[in-house]
Amino acid sequence: MRLLGAGDVREIASRLGIKPTKRLGQNFVVEQGTVRQIAALAAPRPGDVILEVGPGLGSLTLALLEAAADMEARLVAVEIDPVLAGELPRTIAARAPKLADRVDVLAADALTVGEPEVGKPTVLAANLPYNVGVPVVLHLLAAFPSLARGVVMVQAEVADRMCAGPGSRVYGAPSAKLAWFAAARLAGTVPRSVFWPVPNVDSRLVAFTRRDPPVTSASRAAVFRVIDAAFGQRRKTLRAALAGWAGSPAEAERVLRAAGVDPGARGEQLTVAEFALIAEAADGEIGLSDRDDSDRAGPRQDQSSARSGPAAPGRLPRPGDGLSRDLAV
Ligand code: SAM
Repeated sequence: MRLLGAGDVREIASRLGIKPTKRLGQNFVVEQGTVRQIAALAAPRPGDVILEVGPGLGSLTLALLEAAADMEARLVAVEIDPVLAGELPRTIAARAPKLADRVDVLAADALTVGEPEVGKPTVLAANLPYNVGVPVVLHLLAAFPSLARGVVMVQAEVADRMCAGPGSRVYGAPSAKLAWFAAARLAGTVPRSVFWPVPNVDSRLVAFTRRDPPVTSASRAAVFRVIDAAFGQRRKTLRAALAGWAGSPAEAERVLRAAGVDPGARGEQLTVAEFALIAEAADGEIGLSDRDDSDRAGPRQDQSSARSGPAAPGRLPRPGDGLSRDLAV
């Protein structure tokens, strides 16, 4: 397989008149060892449906097809930029003509795709746009229960957060929410020199395997609301951080005690199972968990699910407040 090199990437981009944009996180991989490493971590198996988000000019797409060439596997690529999505089938036809009929390219936003368009993917492989890496992964895990494993390249700090456990300095809402769906591990560091244009951040690979969520009667949306509230004021004790969510510090303390969680602890010390216990206890104590669970479909809504309406005791901090969207999830 003739993978794309630096000259190919620049030639296709210049022929299409593409100027990579920061808004869409368009940093294309120009080094073949990197895309082969990602494809090896994705480790396609017979029968897999690979979901690639943001195929761009096709650097990783071709490596994934190369890794899956000898087995019955399919690939669905979701690219938001219509010019890139339009060109990808031509690139595949030129470089992997025998595999072209195994690929579907969708010009769509990965933050909103679902089974009707994509089907039932089994493995995610992506060099993700940096500003939406975590929301994309959370959305896809929620939208595609068939997604059993994956490997994504994201900004190094975001990767560290995704893989952190309780007690770590970088453990936060992305860590706890991802832990609801999957076990994640750091799978390598990638120098910025493999990209064109060269970004001003380093990258890391995160590999994940889906696992069962904690056993709880609380909905995912309710648990994610507790996580958002706890990390919205991460330096505060849970009694203080959850006061707005519960209605008052006293209510927060009652719920925490009912959940068996120390009100003097901080959110960064809790596992996702303990956040679930709090949401479940709130259900019994003050009826918070059963409210507004129309957002069961995915974390995109979860992020903006600051409670509103007559029963809402106060505005929760929103992910966008003073933080990049990715780090705030
Ligand atoms: N996979 C290619 C590579 O490794 O060279 C390109 C990776 S580049 C970091 C991210 C890609 O994601 C770009 O092609 C960009 O247009 C696309 N993209 C950005 N936001 C997207 C979204 N919400 N849904 C789908 N694709 C998106």
